[in-house]
Amino acid sequence: MKPKLEVRNLSKTFYENGRVVKALDGVSFAARPGEFITIIGPSGCGKSTLFNLITGLIRPDSGDILLDGVSIAGRTGLVGYMPQRDLLLPWRNVLDNVILGPELAGRPRAEARRKALELFPLFGLEGFERAYPAELSGGMRQRAALLRTFLCERDVLLLDEPFGALDALTRRRLQSWLLGVWRRFRQTILFVTHDVREAVFLADRVIVMSARPGRVRQVFVVSIPRPRDKRAMLAESAVKLQAALIEALEAEVDRDPGSQARPDRARNRPLLG
Ligand code: ADP
Repeated sequence: MKPKLEVRNLSKTFYENGRVVKALDGVSFAARPGEFITIIGPSGCGKSTLFNLITGLIRPDSGDILLDGVSIAGRTGLVGYMPQRDLLLPWRNVLDNVILGPELAGRPRAEARRKALELFPLFGLEGFERAYPAELSGGMRQRAALLRTFLCERDVLLLDEPFGALDALTRRRLQSWLLGVWRRFRQTILFVTHDVREAVFLADRVIVMSARPGRVRQVFVVSIPRPRDKRAMLAESAVKLQAALIEALEAEVDRDPGSQARPDRARNRPLLG
């Protein structure tokens, strides 16, 4: 099967205030159509940089990004992107927030609204069409931001820690809900997380990135049958996989020169991020 998205040997270095930061160094992987890939790695390993490159917001120093076999490096608007912060516009109601993508693409508002309203029940937002972002719970805000990303109607979605700021229970509910939405629409999804359980629960494959400069350190295939539930995550293979991921990540954090220079900080701060 031809890959939907291919990342070939991507490298990116930033130069800022006399500082040289090599963020990514030769990152390569490919995602099949409809595949769900989670990406996990130490803080600062270049996960957001990778997404900014795939969305075309920044250009790689070398390497290429191919969508359906065609180079898209430096081209924006071809993949759906949900950044870490939900970026809902506080002065727009939920309906007008979620149609932002089609609106910016110059599509008729009435049609965009009709399509959006059809999806409000699936996204658990029915009855909140005219509410403003400040009136929504954290989980609802994330679902609204996801709906906005879905309505861009792209085959590939990049989701940067969409559930990172939510409490554990809401996060688990949204994970199951997201899998339901994905089963229906089957986009190719790249999902950044720093939560090992989440990485395993959602993915067909988990990519572990190295400490900076980011490289693909290891790729784990998740063969837990779908649909997955709490019980599936307690099976021996699922538990072992999570343990293997934690080990791979700890090895990267230990390798990170930044964390070794500050052992106390490294010990006290969250492992990943
Ligand atoms: P992650 O998302 O994995 O935490 P990032 O991609 O945000 O990592 O950052 C990787 C490295 O690149 C960090 O050291 C960060 O400071 C640096 N970096 C990211 N964007 C820029 C930028 N626009 N200018 C300078 N340095 C940057």
